[in-house]
Amino acid sequence: MISVGEARGLIDSSVQVMATKKINISTLMTNGIPGDHDHVLAEPIIADRPLPPMDRVTMDGIAILYSAYENGQRRFKITGCQRAGEPALTLKNGGQECVEVMTGSILPTGCNAVLRYEDLDIKDSVATIKDGTPVEQYMYVHRKGSDSAAGDVLIKAGTRLGPAEWAVAASVGQENITVVGKPRVALVATGDEILPVEAMPRDFEIRGSNLYALAAAMGQRGFPVSSTTHLRDDLTQMHDKLSGLLNSHDVIITTGGVSKGKFDHLPEVLTDLRVTKIFHEVSQRPGKPFWFGVGERGQLVFGLPGNPVSVLVGFYAHVLPALIKMSGGTYQKRLARLAAPVTFKPELTLFQPVTVSMGDDGVMCALPKSHNTSGDYVRLSGTDGVIELPATRQSFAEGELFPFHSWSLN
Ligand code: AMP
Ligand code: MG
Repeated sequence: MISVGEARGLIDSSVQVMATKKINISTLMTNGIPGDHDHVLAEPIIADRPLPPMDRVTMDGIAILYSAYENGQRRFKITGCQRAGEPALTLKNGGQECVEVMTGSILPTGCNAVLRYEDLDIKDSVATIKDGTPVEQYMYVHRKGSDSAAGDVLIKAGTRLGPAEWAVAASVGQENITVVGKPRVALVATGDEILPVEAMPRDFEIRGSNLYALAAAMGQRGFPVSSTTHLRDDLTQMHDKLSGLLNSHDVIITTGGVSKGKFDHLPEVLTDLRVTKIFHEVSQRPGKPFWFGVGERGQLVFGLPGNPVSVLVGFYAHVLPALIKMSGGTYQKRLARLAAPVTFKPELTLFQPVTVSMGDDGVMCALPKSHNTSGDYVRLSGTDGVIELPATRQSFAEGELFPFHSWSLN
C-alpha cells in the first residue's frame, strides 16, 4: 500500500494542465456559474495607454500655477470649473487666476498644483489659501504615466484572477481574457442503497449525500460541476454510463464501490474501459480504499470510498490539488497548530477533523473534534477542515504544526 505522499506524487504527475480559453469580461456581470471569475491568466494583461492616462486630479479644490504661489500669490480668482469626464480647460492668466477642479478630472492646461477646498477660504469667486497650508508642485495630482507606460505588462501570465486583476483588465479595455480552462468534472455516486433526497427511504436504504458535499466543496473553490449521476452496483449499467462519462469529461469523481465488497465493481469496470489503474489503497484514515486511474485521453478518475467523511477527506487531500493544478494554479499549503494532543496507533496518515481559531500570534490553532467512524458525517458539521497527522508517528503533541486542509479557504 502506498503512502499519502506517494499518492500525491502519482496524482500530481498524472495531471495535464487544461487548454486555454477566452472569457468575455461581460460574463462576470451576467452569469452566476461558480468560479467563472476565478481563473488563472494564460496571457499577460498589457497597458493599452499610460496609466493614469492623464494628469489626474485627486482632490476637490482648485488648480493653480505653482510659480504664482512661489512668487507670493495667495488669492486666486476662480475662472472656471473642471469637471471629471470633460476635456481640459486652459488657465489663461496663470499668475492671478485658478480653476476649480473635481476629483477624477484632468488637470487644466497651464496648472501644476491642486489645493483642497479644506485649505481654502472662498468668497465672491476668489479662493484664498489658508496660512500654513503646505503647497508643492503637482500636489494632489496623479501624474500621467506614473503607474505604468503604454505596452507595460500589468499582470503576468500565471496570475490567478481576483478582484484587483479584473479591475485592471477592465481599465485597459481587455474584453476577452485568455485563461487556463477548467476541467469538466463528473460526480458519480454508486450504491443500490442510495436514494434521491426527495425519496422516503426504507430502513435498509439511505438518501445520497456525497454528491451534495462534493458539489458544495467544488463550488466553494470555484469549480463547476458538469454532471451528476447515480449508478446502481450493476456491472452493465456502470459500464455503459461510465463509458459515456469518460467521453465527455476530464475528471470523474466517484463515491463508493471501490472497497472489497462483492458488489464493489468500479475497479473492474474502469479497467475494462481502459482506465489505467495508478494505485488502489492509500495508507490513510479515513479513505484507505481510494482508487486512482488515468483514462485514454488523460482523464483523471478518482474513486473515493463511499463513507461521507472519506469522501470529503479524499476530495481535499487528493482531488482538489489536482483540479487546481489542471486549471493552472497552485494548491495553497497551510499549517495549523494542534491545540490538543492526539495519539493514533495505526501506521496510517490520520486526517483529523478540527475546528480552527486564530491564535494571538496569527497562527491557526486546530482543535480536534471527536467523531465515531468514517461514516459519522453529522459531527463534521461545524468543523473547519482536517489536520493531517503523518503515519510515521503515533503521538502528536499540543502546539506542533501540521498541514491543515480547510473546507472553505482557497
Ligand atoms: P462503499 O464504499 O460503497 O462500500 O460505501 C461505504 C459507505 O458509504 C456505505 O455505508 C454507503 O452506504 C455509504 N455511502 C455510499 N455512497 C453514499 C452517498 N452517495 N451518500 C451517502 N452515503 C454513501
Ligand atoms: Mg457501495
